Amino acid sequence: MAAKSFDLIVIGAGPGGYVAAIRAAQLGMAVAVVEREHLGGICLNWGCIPTKALLRSAEVFHLMHRAKEFGLKADGIDFDLDAVVKRSRKVAKQLTSGVGGLMKKNKITVVMGAAKLIGKGKVSVKTEAGTDELTAKNVILATGARARELPGLEADGKQVWTYKHALQPPHMPKKLLVIGSGAIGIEFASFYNTLGADTTVVEVMDRVLPVEDADISAFANKAFEKQGMKIMQKAMVKQLDRGKDKVTAHIEVGGKIEKHDFDTVISAVGIVGNVEDLGLEELGVKIDRTHVVTDAYCRTGVDGLYAIGDIAGAPWLAHKASHEGVMVAELIAGKHPHPVKPESIAGCTYCHPQVASVGYSEAKAKELGYEIKVGKFPFIGNGKAIALGEESGMIKTIFDAKTGELLGAHMIGAEVTELIQGYVVGRQLETTEEDLMNTVFPHPTLSEMMHESVLDAYGRVIHM
Ligand SMILES: Cc1cc2nc3c(=O)[nH]c(=O)nc-3n(C[C@H](O)[C@H](O)[C@H](O)COP(=O)(O)OP(=O)(O)OC[C@H]3O[C@@H](n4cnc5c(N)ncnc54)[C@H](O)[C@@H]3O)c2cc1C
Repeated sequence: MAAKSFDLIVIGAGPGGYVAAIRAAQLGMAVAVVEREHLGGICLNWGCIPTKALLRSAEVFHLMHRAKEFGLKADGIDFDLDAVVKRSRKVAKQLTSGVGGLMKKNKITVVMGAAKLIGKGKVSVKTEAGTDELTAKNVILATGARARELPGLEADGKQVWTYKHALQPPHMPKKLLVIGSGAIGIEFASFYNTLGADTTVVEVMDRVLPVEDADISAFANKAFEKQGMKIMQKAMVKQLDRGKDKVTAHIEVGGKIEKHDFDTVISAVGIVGNVEDLGLEELGVKIDRTHVVTDAYCRTGVDGLYAIGDIAGAPWLAHKASHEGVMVAELIAGKHPHPVKPESIAGCTYCHPQVASVGYSEAKAKELGYEIKVGKFPFIGNGKAIALGEESGMIKTIFDAKTGELLGAHMIGAEVTELIQGYVVGRQLETTEEDLMNTVFPHPTLSEMMHESVLDAYGRVIHM
């Protein structure tokens, strides 16, 4: 490595770090990225992308089973788990090598090694060859997060898995317990259940996908149970007894302990920020539990030190990390970017049926004191949904009754993870019910339901 002094050092090359580095390079900065494992971070290697590749295999498998409905013949339908996983790993590799190409194209120095702050603007990097010291006026921490492990429920990679094991499974689960029904837990439950695992999901809160609007959770619950999943709500896994061929889970539900046997357990009980061994305490960086405390501009309180993405707290989403990365690069370059608004960041879960939302739930909007108007539209009322054979789903919209502001949108059903962006753009442009009602939606599309849901909120729904 020739230069050791940079305008910006980014620690971590996930979707937060590598995107921040590219934007900073575009703005004329000399940038170094330090990465201890692999370019692309969790998202490209062990998160967003490989899970979506697995779920696509499950979706095709599910559709193959429905061939007859579409007038098609498919006999001897089966799957090869090794091949499914191989495809997922190949997709991840293709994207991570793409990040390498982007680093080169933008003349960003990539240093492979573990970084630690040894003073303001000073970073030491442990590489395979030894220790390097880099300096810069500005440093962005983008070290991400890892799976949370609860005492007694720790992963062993054989019977008890984290998401990393579930992405490269040593065997196909026959009887699977998924602990936690957030996005990660539900996506794996959906994948393995579709492939035929007898799947039970245990959720400590009173409903699945507990961050979603209550109507969406209820709809999802019914859909999952129809697919054969067992859902235990207000239930807590207290203990796992690991035997030779089975794991016995002690599950507290309704004040009693029930014992159930499984061959595989996936623990998806949240994530913890990678805040250790970074020299943060010495610099006086504030940490709340496992996340770096920042202001709305991702500033840590230490001059020239920023934290973005998963290490800076919720929502733990790749697009939030990337957007913060761009915002901080622009701030450092002396521009005047807007802070990221968490309530304008969509959350998507790629289970079957898909779930997507942005803004406030009905309960949250009420809690904040809004007088609201609510619209709902079912997939069964939409021509394209019926033509696709995807009649199950709904779209719910919530408006401020006084101003017409779109406060929240909540969807469940086919392709809603693509549809949600329409409402995200609407919220960004501070759209009102009138703009949305006056917008012409193409026919036949699933997006027409977005229109109908808005019309329903104002008593003008057409196809219902
Ligand atoms: C199974 C799963 C599925 C997911 N699906 C989605 C999804 O569909 N959509 C979505 O938006 N989000 C999804 N996420 C979340 C998403 O992956 C994260 O929000 C995103 O990766 C956060 O980006 P980041 O840049 O903050 O951190 P990361 O992607 O975690 O990257 C941090 C990088 O920093 C490196 N690093 C850490 N410490 C050091 C150090 N000391 N020195 C050098 N390098 C270091 C790490 O090796 C890592 O490469 C998923 C997560 C999981 C686990």
